[in-house]
Amino acid sequence: MSYYALTPDTLRDYLAQDEALASRLGGTADTWHIREVSDGNLNLVFIVTGHLGAVCCKQALPHVRVAPTWPMPLERALFEARYMQRIAQAKTPHAVELYAFDNAMYLLVMEALLPHQVLRSQLIANKDIACFSAPIARYISHTAHASSWHTQRFETGSQILEEFSGNTALTRITVDLILSDPFRQSERNPTPEAELLPVIHAMQDDADLLRAVTHLQTRFLSARQALLHGDLHTGSIMLHDGDIRVIDGEFALMGPIGFDCGLYIANLILHACAAPSKADFIRNEIQIFWDTFTEEMQRLFDRPQGDAAQLLPEHEDKAFVSAFLQEIFQDTVGFCGLEIIRRTIGFAQIADYDLCETPEARLAARQAALSIGKALVLQHQHIASIAEILAIFSTD
Ligand code: ADP
Ligand code: MG
Ligand code: MG
Ligand code: MG
Repeated sequence: MSYYALTPDTLRDYLAQDEALASRLGGTADTWHIREVSDGNLNLVFIVTGHLGAVCCKQALPHVRVAPTWPMPLERALFEARYMQRIAQAKTPHAVELYAFDNAMYLLVMEALLPHQVLRSQLIANKDIACFSAPIARYISHTAHASSWHTQRFETGSQILEEFSGNTALTRITVDLILSDPFRQSERNPTPEAELLPVIHAMQDDADLLRAVTHLQTRFLSARQALLHGDLHTGSIMLHDGDIRVIDGEFALMGPIGFDCGLYIANLILHACAAPSKADFIRNEIQIFWDTFTEEMQRLFDRPQGDAAQLLPEHEDKAFVSAFLQEIFQDTVGFCGLEIIRRTIGFAQIADYDLCETPEARLAARQAALSIGKALVLQHQHIASIAEILAIFSTD
């Protein structure tokens, strides 16, 4: 079968012809309820509900969904499927189960999260949620542990590298949109508020900042520490009550663990910039995130068992983990700063800024974000603790 972009009607026919998926849904195809829930930049997503169960169907389009003239290879669906298969081995309760992958249709059929909602939307709607950051910290540490050179034979790491090294189209998006465009003239950068132009131009001329960005570009491309999610913002997390899940792993690649941590923390900080009255709540989440991450990493990497670091005598294991965590922390700080900047002036901005009720409030929120982002990028190799990040980020 050759590729065609699905509609609710053709998806119904498609699922009806697949015995295993049809029996998961139950009843006859005409009784299934199908709704499109696409809200990301790239793909089509449908939720299909029958009287026995539900599935989520995610299909790649040959272009960026929100920018049809921007072509995008369909193969990204393959990397998302591989990511889900790899993460299943990490046995984290925060993953999503993949039921089927159709490599001709570039279609993933997965567990439907119902009635879960995206974390970013819940934050924007000011829903009564808290402590969602500990599960995310555990998710990152468990998936890092399952793919690290310190816990696996190097042959396994090489296999993972190979599985994801072809994910170049989406890595290109990261390299351009996060690691480059905000710091240069680019047609992809939207026109900013006039008041931001001097700040943006000053950043683009700041030699120290450009050196720090270049260092982080190199870290991203060369520090192949573990399998990353690669797009771990608050729109890639869904939750309902205590059940917290990570979706949308199409950007997966081997990279610096601090990239996932940094993106997550950045999106919390961005939310606080847009909603300054929530700064204390957000600070608390960031603290919980880093405390949990540190504890889990110390526990999981307690005794290095891979081909790397196993020569160390036991009394040096603690110092080894501390140094590893310090390196991850510096990357976290830097990538956090880059994500804050790109979500404020780059191509893919965030809905959180719509919380600002006046143009003045929105401008102030963006100015605050840029100044935090810039400080984190510039200082990423010198900031020593999460408390220092929380101090830089005092928006009130
Ligand atoms: P994109 O790659 O285009 O960003 P996402 O994987 O983020 O696509 O999915 C887009 C939206 O579809 C999500 O924001 C969420 O609302 C919904 N969604 C994605 N996966 C699921 C799922 N497994 N269960 C329920 N809804 C989902
Ligand atoms: Mg998404
Ligand atoms: Mg995506
Ligand atoms: Mg040892």
